[in-house]
Amino acid sequence: MLRHLSADAGAVLTDPTPLNPWPVYDLHSHTRASDGLLTPEELVLRAVGHRVGVLAITDHDTVDGIPSAREAIARHQLPLQLIAGVEISSLWENHEIHIVGLGVATEHPELTAFLKEQTDRRQARAELIAERLEKAHIPGSLAGAMALAEGGAITRGHFARFLIAQGKADNMAQVFKNYLARGKTGYAPPQWCTIKQAIDAIHHSGGRAVLAHPGRYGLSAKWLKRLIAHFSEEGGDAMEVAQCQQAPNERTQLARYAQDYQLAASQGSDFHQPCPWIELGKKLWLPGGVEAVWLRFPEIAQV
Ligand code: AMP
Ligand code: MN
Ligand code: MN
Ligand code: MN
Repeated sequence: MLRHLSADAGAVLTDPTPLNPWPVYDLHSHTRASDGLLTPEELVLRAVGHRVGVLAITDHDTVDGIPSAREAIARHQLPLQLIAGVEISSLWENHEIHIVGLGVATEHPELTAFLKEQTDRRQARAELIAERLEKAHIPGSLAGAMALAEGGAITRGHFARFLIAQGKADNMAQVFKNYLARGKTGYAPPQWCTIKQAIDAIHHSGGRAVLAHPGRYGLSAKWLKRLIAHFSEEGGDAMEVAQCQQAPNERTQLARYAQDYQLAASQGSDFHQPCPWIELGKKLWLPGGVEAVWLRFPEIAQV
């Protein structure tokens, strides 16, 4: 599919209007290997149904969903190019910053060891979250969240679903606001790696490092620029500019930052589950003036 895209194809051509002949790129999505609700097979079938031509699966600190996604694409002969990805949790200035890796070699021993450390940290954090909830008279959350994770990477998303099932909240936004956000009853400070360690692990396994959803960290403009500058100085390659749910000016602002800090631009839905607001491939296009990550680093889609 990518062969249709010459290196000089302007980034604006990725605008997925009905007349657009180019494949839609969605470079951020989740499966049941972490906190997504669909299996890898269900996800790739859904992606094709929504006209996505290039999909990156980027589960939290795991690449375990990739092999069955590949297998499903081959078995159904889907017109879909898969990019092997991962979303790594890191800690910077006491903020939890997510770094997406695109085009990683999923069986690289260094990446495997690194992701094992991260999933161990996830498990340790989950135990702390459960202790806190227990003290707040909500028992059984570790077993409940682990049952929902089905052996995959355990996240606050699983605790959120457990708490909703217990009737503690009606929806994800509410349960995070009341229980799981920083400073709330069920929040335990994590021990994630640094941004540099995340970038290095991605690079050593042949991938490119992308700063995920920069608009979602609640940072002021001054701190956001500081974060992007740090990410760029540490060797980061790209930043997400386009998501389907964004404030009107956010996309153009992020595009400007990408240019200012010489980062390529990425786009992704961060799809977790079917819902009315977020969909695979939806509203994903890049403003003019930025360089798309798949054009600057075409090798990410070659694996
Ligand atoms: P963790 O990596 O364990 O800290 O869990 C983070 C995940 O929780 C994110 O990737 C989202 O899927 C989910 N999440 C975080 N904040 C919210 C929120 N306000 N509403 C819904 N989901 C959220
Ligand atoms: Mn998530
Ligand atoms: Mn994220
Ligand atoms: Mn994500």
